[in-house]
Amino acid sequence: MKTKKFTVADGCISCGKCVRGCYKNNIKLVDGKPVWGNDCTHCMACINQCPKGVIEYGRKTEGKPRYQGPESALK
Ligand code: SF4
Ligand code: SF4
Repeated sequence: MKTKKFTVADGCISCGKCVRGCYKNNIKLVDGKPVWGNDCTHCMACINQCPKGVIEYGRKTEGKPRYQGPESALK
């Protein structure tokens, strides 16, 4: 799936949770900010697991709640 629309807003704390949470290993931190590769299934784990809620996918995710499940597997 395409990843061009992933963006990260101000407020990223460079925690790397999005990197660890991508089961496709498709995200790297570059200068402390996530950069998406091209091996993505649009599972949206990165968006939902970001503790700061600063990852967006185009405008579709703006203002929408994030779901982290009853127990986040990612520390
Ligand atoms: S949507 Fe899923 S597969 Fe795609 S980059 Fe985010 S965590 Fe990885
Ligand atoms: S999970 Fe969120 S705060 Fe942490 S590095 Fe990724 S975008 Fe930044």
